[in-house]
Parts: sequence; structure tokens; C-alpha cells
Amino acid sequence: MSIINIEKELNKLILKALKYNEVPIAAIIIKNGKIISKAYNKVNKTNNFMDHAEIISIKKAIKKLKNWRLKECIMYVSLEPCAMCKEIIKKSRIEEVYYFVNQNAEKTEKNPNYKKINSTTDFSTTLKKFFVNRR
Ligand SMILES: [Zn+2]
Repeated sequence: MSIINIEKELNKLILKALKYNEVPIAAIIIKNGKIISKAYNKVNKTNNFMDHAEIISIKKAIKKLKNWRLKECIMYVSLEPCAMCKEIIKKSRIEEVYYFVNQNAEKTEKNPNYKKINSTTDFSTTLKKFFVNRR
């Protein structure tokens, strides 16, 4: 699974989120080089503030692996996870998290398991546009 393909998958999910008027954030979990779950933000659809892309993807991965310990799993997420998701990611035992867009830089605590990677897809602009259009 190359980064380019992961970006493409994330972008597809983000377009779905936009279609349903959800905040365009997507997450993918990979194990042994294969996608085991993917999700986009569904807070409005489910009317549940916990339904962030990261958490939905974790729930799907647990179901698929029949194991709540997501060892050897890697998460790719378009935006750096919020504090709630970071806590849940930690509990899930996911070992590495890669994200493409930073949250507010000052609030970001340093965690060696989190790595920012550069993308060819402009996830940041998609997010900004979404919030501008909502006003
Ligand atoms: Zn979150």
C-alpha cells in the first residue's frame, strides 16, 4: 500500500463526507500492508459527537480482527487527531499514526508515535473551504 494510494482512499472518503455535509476528515487502518478499515466523520449522520473518522475506523478494525488490541496496526488520518481520538487510539494499541494536516500547532503535544507526512492531496484546503462555506 503506497502513500499515494492511501491518499487516494482518504480523498474518496473525504468526498463522501462532503457529500453528506460532514466535516471532511477520513481515517484508514492498515495491517500487514492491507487496509482493514476505513471511515469518515459521521457526527451529523449519527448525531453522535464521538463518531469521528478515527473512532469509527477503530471500531471497524476491532470487529474485523475480533480483537480490541490493534497491535501492528497503523492509522492514516487526513487531519491530526483531536485529544479524544488520541486517547482512544492509545487505548486501541495502534502503534503508529500518520497524518497530513496539523491541528493548532501550539496545542500539539509531541508524541513519537505520531508523524506528520506531506501529501500531494490538499486536505488542508478542503477542510478550510468546508468551514468557510458553512458560515
Ligand atoms: Zn477526533
